[in-house]
Amino acid sequence: MTDAKHSSPRRHRSWAEPYKIKVVEPLKMTTRAEREQAIAAAGYNTFLLRSEDVYIDLLTDSGTAAMSDYQWAGMMLGDEAYAGSKNFYNLEENIQKYYGYRYIVPTHQGRGAENILSQILIKPGDYVPGNMYFTTTRLHQELAGGTFVDVIIDEAHDAESLHPFKGNIDLQKLTDLIERVGAERIPYISVAGTVNMAGGQPISIANLRAVYQLAQSYGIRIILDATRAVENAYFIQQREEDYRNQAIATILHEFCSYTDGCTMSGKKDALVNIGGWLALNDYNLYEEARNLIVIYEGLHTYGGMAGRDMEAMARGIEESVKDDHIRARVGQVEYLGQKLLDWGIPIVVPIGGHAIYLDAKRFLPQIPQDEFPAQRLAAELYVEAGIRAMERGIVSAGRSKQTGDNYYPELELVRLTIPRRVYTQAHMDLTAEAVEEVYYNRDRLCGLKMIYEPKYLRFFQARFELL
Ligand SMILES: *Cc1c(COP(=O)(O)O)cnc(C)c1O
Repeated sequence: MTDAKHSSPRRHRSWAEPYKIKVVEPLKMTTRAEREQAIAAAGYNTFLLRSEDVYIDLLTDSGTAAMSDYQWAGMMLGDEAYAGSKNFYNLEENIQKYYGYRYIVPTHQGRGAENILSQILIKPGDYVPGNMYFTTTRLHQELAGGTFVDVIIDEAHDAESLHPFKGNIDLQKLTDLIERVGAERIPYISVAGTVNMAGGQPISIANLRAVYQLAQSYGIRIILDATRAVENAYFIQQREEDYRNQAIATILHEFCSYTDGCTMSGKKDALVNIGGWLALNDYNLYEEARNLIVIYEGLHTYGGMAGRDMEAMARGIEESVKDDHIRARVGQVEYLGQKLLDWGIPIVVPIGGHAIYLDAKRFLPQIPQDEFPAQRLAAELYVEAGIRAMERGIVSAGRSKQTGDNYYPELELVRLTIPRRVYTQAHMDLTAEAVEEVYYNRDRLCGLKMIYEPKYLRFFQARFELL
């Protein structure tokens, strides 16, 4: 909404929300003593807190969006037929229209699609290069017998590098891998945009195009993790000269055209509480996926979702690609991040699309990585103000499949993830104030000891004690 004729000398326009609030959800307020007790009972793992005891829930932006009245109205139009639900066809049509892929298989969420894809494409001994790993994606690749190889640019591992596209793939690293193991050992290149584990950092469309040309010359497919591709499209619009005047929907479509298919968690960009899909352009692969889907998810026209859920996602896709929406969504994240930067708090820069990442190595330098500084920081933020964040460091990184040793990731982060259309600017202010308070008292904090470690994706259920 800009009107040149009436523009004031103030050049900056706020990211203000392109919606108003129709329904509210009251929150419980807790005391510090109650929160100390709750976090100890949760083994200092924010995943094990009860949501009731949380004031501002920044654990994840997954499935936590507020749906619009248009989406809720669509829920009443659920066609709960076992086969051939009209909501499936609406969903299929919108994915084809906005993402541009040919064949769509719905799944209950993103990892359902990752499971099917990995089973179809990966054989034991294969290598899967990608721009930094994602937890569930890499696990499915490894369970299928593959080895994930990180080919992201070095800047991605440096929390302080200001590179505008820290999600880019290093073409030399990729070429070296292909030359070393052979193209026939690489079923596909796993490209994510934005890159969650690097801090919500985008990949440029120029880089993806170059990767696509390289991949084509070797006959290797590219599969996109499209979970936050709309947010990625926003950064392309903001940072790549040729795309400045293009609509988000146009950029998204071109972006996806440099890939051969995607896995998708609808719980992020697509503004729903549950849902996902696998999309493929190759008919033969689609046939295989359609065969497997009935084992793991459901019939190929519902894939683990109710008809109403598919309708909500079909409508969520339409809303997610609107320029006003994505500008306000990323704008709110930038608002929180800028406040923390102004106050000298160490965070990953540039500010990403869906979250602010506190740099626990600089925040708590006295705690060695074996004593889980990011895990401790997340627990402390909860005690401080009832804010729930998530560890994205050594606990999330897990252990090497080969040696059983801990991975020691460069990045030891706490993620403050902003749900879409849920919290207000006052919530962001309070969050920044709480982080600042913990930062002020940071010298008093010590590390943690892990007292229970689950076998898979340990960050979800591990338990800790104060040292
Ligand atoms: C959330 C997420 C997934 C997994 O999706 P689920 O819906 O949680 O199963 C995969 N990749 C990325 C980048 C994600 O953020």
